[in-house]
Amino acid sequence: MTAVPYHLNLVGGEWVDGERRPNTGAARPDEVVSEYARAGRETARAAIEAARGAQPDWARQPVGYRMELLDRVGSAILDRVEELAVLLAREEGKLLGEARGEVTRAGQTFQYYAHQLLQPSGEVYPSTRDRVHAEVRRRPLGVIGIITPWNYPMAIPAWKVAPALAYGNTVVLKPAELVPASAGELARIITAAGLPPGVFNLVMGAGGEVGDELLTSTGVDGISFTGSTGTGAQVAHQCLTHGNKRFQLEMGGKNPLVVLDDAELAVAVRCALDGSFFSSGQRCTASSRLIVQAGIHDRFVAALAEATDALRVGDPLDPTSQLGPVVSPGQLAQNLDYVRVGLAEGARVVAGGAHRPDEGQFMRPTLFAGARNDMRLAREEIFGPVACVIRVDDLDEAIDVANDTPYGLSAGIVTGSLSAAERFKRDARAGIVSVNLPTAGTELHLPFGGTGASNHGPREQGGYARDFYSVPVTCYTGW
Ligand code: NAD
Repeated sequence: MTAVPYHLNLVGGEWVDGERRPNTGAARPDEVVSEYARAGRETARAAIEAARGAQPDWARQPVGYRMELLDRVGSAILDRVEELAVLLAREEGKLLGEARGEVTRAGQTFQYYAHQLLQPSGEVYPSTRDRVHAEVRRRPLGVIGIITPWNYPMAIPAWKVAPALAYGNTVVLKPAELVPASAGELARIITAAGLPPGVFNLVMGAGGEVGDELLTSTGVDGISFTGSTGTGAQVAHQCLTHGNKRFQLEMGGKNPLVVLDDAELAVAVRCALDGSFFSSGQRCTASSRLIVQAGIHDRFVAALAEATDALRVGDPLDPTSQLGPVVSPGQLAQNLDYVRVGLAEGARVVAGGAHRPDEGQFMRPTLFAGARNDMRLAREEIFGPVACVIRVDDLDEAIDVANDTPYGLSAGIVTGSLSAAERFKRDARAGIVSVNLPTAGTELHLPFGGTGASNHGPREQGGYARDFYSVPVTCYTGW
């Protein structure tokens, strides 16, 4: 057996060992992609201390210094897109093309925040008093604990770490345990770029241990979390009861895509296919509820079922594959459970549905028709390649059904009508609204986040990220 890379934790600029664990690939759970040093609370504590120690100096460095280092990290990622994309595809299971896109996004995100540092910072207000200067300045939040999920193992850490560092904070990153290699490579790149020790720290370990240490420590000022809504509730509780930490949560979704009678059928099918099934449906913005008007319903279901069945599910490194594996045996079992739930609730499988043990992690995308919005199939996040079609009579009903969910991340509509599109943008309760585009697909310079059970706290990405990672300070100067 050839040796695989061994990823260590990074604490105060030192590589720190832990319990040596295999990191298996998504496509073949018996293939070891790398090994990693699983850490416990003690390493997390040391990382927090290192981040605390490094923060004041880091914040006081000239903007040009932080800018140069972040730009260097971004360029180093972009120099290694191909190699990192192969790793990501093997580890997480997304197609090589999608992985290239994700790694590129990660590199560009570091470069974006490097340059964001040149944007105006703070505001000057007129004072109501004579000979008083009034201004709002920004200072860093301090030490940020970053807790990330497995589905975007490069992009999500990048879109949290880059703004955190840019605005003068130091960081302890705790990635999901399914994807330590992507985080380990990021740590190597950040270290090689020359960041001072302690500014960026990596601790790989269990959520209930390493994650919990970040939530409960008095050495951490803020938590940026992305993951499921259930875990998010625990994060919120811990942050509030341990020092009233600032926290930002990006969580699950059950995103609707509305298809109206006047939609172009090909566009509707393309949006649904991409939004529901690409990345094996493992996107928080995936459209898992297809809300379709009666007049186009049957044609849409027939065309989408045919297109779904035609998707080639296969090895993520094979350029002819259109869908990769699902991430883990646990996720596969959950997806298949929901297929059984949907059938038991009376929905009808029109594509996929069956799974043979010899297909391993390669689940066929599954489309249900005849669903109702009160079914578990339509209410609970599945996080796999499973979508359901709900028939509605008109735009009013479509909007009611779209909004009838605890979540509110992304919502889409396919229509030829400008007024229907405008109405949807106004009335859909979601943080992201798309017209004639898939619900998944966002740009790094625009705010990202949801409403309801999908989000708590300020938006991520773009210039909006500053709202979480810095604190406004109102200053009055008499002269
Ligand atoms: P998860 O909630 O199981 O885990 C997320 C992270 O939290 C992991 O690092 C995990 O180790 C950690 N964690 C678990 N328990 C913890 C605890 N008690 N204390 C502290 N940390 C803990 O989510 P997942 O399975 O990794 O990811 C899938 C979920 O993420 C889906 O619900 C998906 O919708 C969501 N997601 C949301 C967005 C978004 O931006 N809204 C983006 C991607 C994924």
